[in-house]
Amino acid sequence: MDKKTQLAQALAQAGAATKAIRTGADRSHEMEHAEPIFMTSSYVFDSAEDAAARFSGEEPGNVYSRYTNPTVRQFEQRLAAMEGGEAACSAASGMAAIMAVAMAFLQAGDHVICSQSVFGSTTVMFDKYFAKFGVEFSYVKLTDLTAWQKAVKPNTKMLFCESPSNPTAEVADIAALAEIANQASARLVVDNCFCTPVLQNPLALGAHLVCHSATKYIDGQGRCLGGAVVGNQADINEVIGVMRSAGPTLSPFNAWLLLKGLETLKVRMNAHCASAQTIAEWLGSQNVEKVHYAGLVDHSGHELAKRQQSAFGGVVSFVVPGGKQSAWKFINATCLMSITANLGDAKTTITHPASTSHGRWTDEMRTQAGIEDGLIRIAVGLEDVEDLIADLTRGFAAL
Ligand SMILES: *Cc1c(COP(=O)(O)O)cnc(C)c1O
Repeated sequence: MDKKTQLAQALAQAGAATKAIRTGADRSHEMEHAEPIFMTSSYVFDSAEDAAARFSGEEPGNVYSRYTNPTVRQFEQRLAAMEGGEAACSAASGMAAIMAVAMAFLQAGDHVICSQSVFGSTTVMFDKYFAKFGVEFSYVKLTDLTAWQKAVKPNTKMLFCESPSNPTAEVADIAALAEIANQASARLVVDNCFCTPVLQNPLALGAHLVCHSATKYIDGQGRCLGGAVVGNQADINEVIGVMRSAGPTLSPFNAWLLLKGLETLKVRMNAHCASAQTIAEWLGSQNVEKVHYAGLVDHSGHELAKRQQSAFGGVVSFVVPGGKQSAWKFINATCLMSITANLGDAKTTITHPASTSHGRWTDEMRTQAGIEDGLIRIAVGLEDVEDLIADLTRGFAAL
């Protein structure tokens, strides 16, 4: 057996970290060890005949970086391997990835069932733009399987969710949603941004497609935007078709940051999860009304999360007594954490969802989703956990 075949077989059975570090390590003729960045918009041909053959697809090979780029391809191969999907298609951002999925699989007259608790821009894109082209959307509670089932119509083509939800960490039963989708001959699309392939593989649970905002944990250091879709080859070919003609492709430089990000994703996720668990447990003994973290045994989604995730993630939220005034006082009293709504960074972030990420929601929508005025969300970073607890202690002291 040649070494390349041997490596391919070893990788097929390898763990997530090995896949992330060793997949798609094709070298150029320079024999570099680390992955090079191919900053090129186009590719040259030896002859007019060669150009014609590549353009027609008769000969495989690169033509133009809106279609293919070696650095971008390496990122896609690694992510697909980690998610256990046949193929991946990357995008300029998480939103571009979700847009490409909707463009590829929906048309006028189709119906989509979506969880109420998805990322804000996702619902804006659906309701403001896709609705304009005649696609219909119904929103249901993430954890209410009966509501998902009841929302199915003859024209339902897609179910869309995120799990765990932001910021209250509700957990979706992905296998049960996949079953509802299959019965309706629809696709289940899961936004796996909060768990990453290290903690959860929705495809193995029956989901048809996985979307990512690679901007968050996959980059891991808050440096760039990126996104991706993972699924079977036939579905990904449809997404690639959208990407090639519409053009929200990932830049080679960002692909390089992201593929290097994947190499450290497992150790980073383990550290995020360990600190988040410590903080969630510590918060329970403080002046709080509630702590939302699926790693706590009394959380409603704990058992389900234990079944379908390998750990509980890096986002913790909690409710302080005294509403918005109190929450703002708390946030302003911290000095280490960054006041920003972003997440998935080495730097811990702290935010007040009711007046930022969910500020445009109506009071009723916020109440239904558990986004109370006293709710504070932290996306636990990679600092020493004792220092984060000291910073939160400053917050509690200000109440
Ligand atoms: C940030 C985010 C997105 C959007 O990703 P961008 O890279 O900012 O476009 C989508 N889904 C979830 C869950 C997110 O957190």
